[in-house]
Formats: sequence, C-alpha cells, structure tokens
Amino acid sequence: MFSSFTSEHPAMKGHYDVIVVGAGPAGSVAAKTSAEHGLSVLLIEKRQEIGEPVRCAEAIDVKGLSDFTEPDPRWICAKIRRAKLFSPSGSCLEFRDDDKDVAYILERKLFDRELTRRAARAGADVYTKTQATGLLVESGQVTGIRGKQLGDDFEAKARVVVAADGVESRVARWAGLNTAVRREDIGACAQYHLVHPSVEKDCFEFYFGRKHVPGGYAWVFPKGDGEANVGLGTSLSGSGYDTALTCLKKFVAWRFPGASVLQAMAGGVTITGKLPRFSSGGIVLTGDAGRLSDPVTGEGIMNGMISGRIAGKVIAGAVASGDVSAGALRRYDAEVSKCLGPVLDRNYRLKNFLMQTSDIGVDLGFRAAKALKVERIATSRLAEEVFSSTTGNGILKLLFRRASGSPT
Ligand SMILES: Cc1cc2nc3c(=O)[nH]c(=O)nc-3n(C[C@H](O)[C@H](O)[C@H](O)COP(=O)(O)OP(=O)(O)OC[C@H]3O[C@@H](n4cnc5c(N)ncnc54)[C@H](O)[C@@H]3O)c2cc1C
Repeated sequence: MFSSFTSEHPAMKGHYDVIVVGAGPAGSVAAKTSAEHGLSVLLIEKRQEIGEPVRCAEAIDVKGLSDFTEPDPRWICAKIRRAKLFSPSGSCLEFRDDDKDVAYILERKLFDRELTRRAARAGADVYTKTQATGLLVESGQVTGIRGKQLGDDFEAKARVVVAADGVESRVARWAGLNTAVRREDIGACAQYHLVHPSVEKDCFEFYFGRKHVPGGYAWVFPKGDGEANVGLGTSLSGSGYDTALTCLKKFVAWRFPGASVLQAMAGGVTITGKLPRFSSGGIVLTGDAGRLSDPVTGEGIMNGMISGRIAGKVIAGAVASGDVSAGALRRYDAEVSKCLGPVLDRNYRLKNFLMQTSDIGVDLGFRAAKALKVERIATSRLAEEVFSSTTGNGILKLLFRRASGSPT
C-alpha cells in the first residue's frame, strides 16, 4: 500500500520540482544547484550515513575543485605535488611541482557530507535511509519515484528526477535508458587503506606492467601520517575482483612488506566512452549513473560534480519554461557532451591502447620519455594532459607513438 509523504511524513512533501536519487558528489551538487535556482528539491540517500562506506582512492584535481569550493583542511588529508610512474621493468619517471599543489587526497566521508550539507543549506530536503524503489511514469514521461523509508512505501512526484545513484544505478534502467557497458569497460578494483613507514607524503605512485596488474595499474595515494590508499584496477573481462585482490596482496607484500591494513575494499568503475543519451522525458543521469568517470584514471568525483551542476542549471531552465520533455532535456546531453565528452572519448581510446600495449611497449615509451627529458614537465602539466582535451596532449601523443613502435 503506497502513501504520499504529505500525510504520514509531515516534513517531506508529496510533490517536488526535482527529486535527486543518491547523495554522492553528483547528487548533492545537482540538489544544491537546483535549490539555488529556486526549485523545490528532495535529495534521498539509501544509506544510513552520507559518504559511508567509502569506495574510492579519494584523489581530486586541485584545479577542478577550485571551480566549486575553497579547500578545507577538515576534508583534506594530503596535498600532492609529485608523481612517480614506474615502468614494468622498474624504470621511474618522476614529475614534480615545487610551488603548487596538484591534487588533494580527500577524507571522502567528510567531503561528501559537506556537499550534502550545502545542498540542505541551499534549501533541499535531505533524507537518509530512504531508497528509490521504482519510477512513476505517465505516457512515457518520468513523473516521480516510488520509495521506501524505514519500511514504509511512499510515492513522491517530481517534474524531473535526477539519477545520481552511482555505478550500480538502477534508476537509469527503470527509465529505459541504456547504460550497460561491455565487461572489458568495467574496472575491477581492490584497495587497502594501509600504514607503512615508506609512504611518501606528497607523492602519487603508479605501477604499470603485467608483473603487478594484468591490463591495469596499481596506485599509491598518501593520506598523511604514513597512511595510504593502495589499490589497483584491472579490466573485469579476464579477471574480476578475486584477481584484483590477489594482485593487490602480492603488490602490497612487495612494495609495503609488513604493512598494517586498516581497511580493505573492492569496487567497480566504468571505464567507457561517452554514452549516446544522458536524459529522457523527466529524467537526467549524472555522475557514475551516467558512466561519466574517466576511462584512464577511473576518477569520477569531479565529473560527477560537473554533471550535477549542469543538471541543476538545465532543469531550472526547463521547469521555468514549463517543458521537461525529452526534447527540452536534450540540452543537458548537449552541455555534458560539450564539457566532458571530448576527454571521455579521447581517454577511452587511450585506455584501450594502454590495455593492448605489451610491457615491452610501455618500457619503450618510458625510455623515450627519459631521452626526451619529459620529467622536466611539471606534475600540473602532466595532469592537464590527462584531464583536458584542449591543452595540447603533445606528451601523451609522443609517448604513445613511441610505445607502439611508430617513428615520431
Ligand atoms: C577503488 C575505487 C577507487 C576510486 N578512486 C577515485 C579517486 O581517487 N578519485 C575519483 O575522483 N574517483 C574515484 N573513484 C570513483 C568515484 O568513487 C566515483 O566516480 C564517485 O563516487 C561518483 O560519484 P556519484 O555521486 O556519481 O556516485 P556515488 O558517490 O557512488 O553516490 C551514489 C549514491 O547513491 C546512493 N544510492 C544508490 N541507489 C540508491 C537508491 N535506489 N536510492 C537512494 N540512494 C541510492 C548510494 O548509496 C550512494 O551514496 C574510485 C572508485 C573506486 C571503486
């Protein structure tokens, strides 16, 4: 028996302009932006606590973050200025930035909570332990959600529903949007939060080669005080989570012998190109629900926040014009595609190339980079190469040509 919240849950209304499903970075930013545009917003989260459990290595690009917020020491564990890349044979390329931080390692549970708090302060109604269980659909148009809160079923209407329910999104599927990805475009990840004296405090480490990870790479992201998120990701196609965990155990025994493990986790990331559709009548997909994490790095916090902000703005315009049809919400697809599409598609090709390159090829690329004194390039420039489609990509192109054996 369904009930509207109007009668049984006085604080929650039965009708909103926007209902956002999932209070990760994408959902909280979508809720905040929508509320700032004067819309009535409901943000629901199925977990008891926002941001927990954390399934993330917690790295975020400083430049991208500065578009959203000032850094706050309460949710920053470490500041990164250097990056070391290790080839399969153990050759190391080291990049540094002496005068600025390039990335932060977040305390994600506090960061996510802060984003949700900001949505609430902007006027969104926020409920935890509240799960979407289905969509209300009229004449092919999404008009709200079915949900469950503490055992009670409810229905709530919305002009637009935002799917921000992460990598395992069901909302998109309920709406009939095809977000399925190929097995080889899913990264199977395993990670330890560990303590070891050899963790370098301001330095990312990346390890390539089949010795450590077949078809992927391992990372070390310091969290301060000798702690680090140490993980690896490999394509789900030939391996899966068991293999990822087995590789991680071997990698940690080799790189951090005797380390204490404070937390272990496994999770998936989509490492695919841009989807053809991010919206339909009365619904938009944001963040991991829209498969927006980066295909090379698996990073999705920033793309989640960017898509959430675009969603809030586009929905505000659509609601103001009284048209939330599939046609009107196409503007969301256009803006997400313009903003994130080129890098997603370029990095998808790059990911496929890297997965096909032999260890010998990667070593060749490293040797070429050494000869060309690539290490003189600042870490921030290297980050721009990976995350921007407009700032050259000269180094990447050169290295890949070398790695594939082509003359430059
Ligand atoms: C091992 C690993 C390491 C990673 N490392 C990084 C990294 O270093 N940097 C980076 O940027 N990204 C990283 N990522 C990816 C990053 O965690 C995600 O891209 C990011 O969290 C996506 O944000 P989101 O808001 O789209 O989804 P999420 O953060 O997943 O939030 C979705 C929310 O929706 C809720 N939800 C789901 N279904 C429902 C429902 N039916 N009703 C209500 N609520 C629901 C979930 O409980 C969840 O809280 C990593 C991922 C993995 C697995």
